[in-house]
Amino acid sequence: MTTTSDERPYWDAKLETQSRADWGALKLSLLQKHIAHAYAGSPAYRAAFDAAKVSPAQIKSLDDIRRFPFIDKRTLRDRQLAVPPFGDLVAVPEQDIVYISASSGSTGVPTASPFTQSDFDGWIDYEARQFWSSGMRPSDRYVHSLNFSLFIGGPCVLGAQKLGALTIHAGTIPSDRLLQILRQFQATVIWTTPSYAWYLGETAIKEGYDLRKDLAVRRIFVAGEPGGSIPETRNRIEQLWGASVYDYYGLSDIFGSCAGMCEQKEGLHWAEDHILVEVIDPDSGEPVKPGDRGEMVLTTLKKTARPMIRFRTGDIVSFNPEPCRCGRTAIRLNGVHGRRDDMLIIKGVNLFPSDVEAVARQDHELTGEYRLVVDRINHLDRLTVEVEHIHGYNGAPETLADRFERKLKAVTGVSAAVSVLKPDTLPRATHKAKRVEDRRSGVWS
Ligand SMILES: [Zn+2]
Repeated sequence: MTTTSDERPYWDAKLETQSRADWGALKLSLLQKHIAHAYAGSPAYRAAFDAAKVSPAQIKSLDDIRRFPFIDKRTLRDRQLAVPPFGDLVAVPEQDIVYISASSGSTGVPTASPFTQSDFDGWIDYEARQFWSSGMRPSDRYVHSLNFSLFIGGPCVLGAQKLGALTIHAGTIPSDRLLQILRQFQATVIWTTPSYAWYLGETAIKEGYDLRKDLAVRRIFVAGEPGGSIPETRNRIEQLWGASVYDYYGLSDIFGSCAGMCEQKEGLHWAEDHILVEVIDPDSGEPVKPGDRGEMVLTTLKKTARPMIRFRTGDIVSFNPEPCRCGRTAIRLNGVHGRRDDMLIIKGVNLFPSDVEAVARQDHELTGEYRLVVDRINHLDRLTVEVEHIHGYNGAPETLADRFERKLKAVTGVSAAVSVLKPDTLPRATHKAKRVEDRRSGVWS
């Protein structure tokens, strides 16, 4: 990249605005090379492809990926335990690996995601491109306040440096310190989670900050929770801060971010030159209709250290294949509707916590905080939604409860008992919010 004029709309205009046919041709040629690389370099992929009687030469179209076997988080963990420390899905010699990140390990052994130098450079260039599409420019001052430890978010900050912005590597530090940094350096862009953006804004106000006058934050990038793609949640954070909020999606086993919002904020443009997407019915494994909800399955196209071929993410998503008003032609992720594991089935109806969140945040006499409690009484599921009325609400709690119950039923088809609590009753989330208590198994989860 040679010119960095702040006015140009795209980081890489030729790539980002190419026709869908050109995207298809690009992805196919990358896929053919990448599958061949995985087969040649990784003993685990070679064995799995041989067992499934498939070979790289069978990739004649993008649909041919469907012949290949799935992998999932368990595969990553099992192969890593079988051939420590990185596993035999790795397709390059260790001396070519220059960086690893690790997944958060919330379900057991953390899995390592290795990068060669060219994998790493490709990721950083993609981050710069995506940041540019969200309006970041070389004149910005960027505070990176995601966790830096082994988790994948850390190096994203290098994408902002590559773009030419001034970057401040803050990481996760106490809120009062973070607010001081934002004020002292008059930072214009910050990256955090939606819950934390909300918490930080509320904390700042309690500590006497005027968010619009004392701070200069104009853009907030969020990731890690569905909130950034729920318009009601995004609007509330935007109004609190007087800033524009952009949602990002990342997957620790691939990249820090794999998709992000452009200025139109109608979905997250996908990194199509790095990652091939399938959306499948989680039960049958067959593709859903374009635009429908299903489980996202990802295949890397360039990440050579450890190729990911048909990785089942467990994320329930939908995509918008229509062109975007910004002129970019990459498909857009509508957002993550939930995790396959988070999906609650209440009397046979699928319900995601994010569906409840959308209803909670529409009602301006509620604080927007919520918790779901699911019980099974006499073999019947019972959902209770706890919400809070705002400070200064003088009406009857039953009025709010009735209104919430009707809206929730209309939006999701699920009936719930609604309990309206006083403000500041529900626990405030700092980073990742825990909002579901499913008592049906007898174990709180
Ligand atoms: Zn766009």
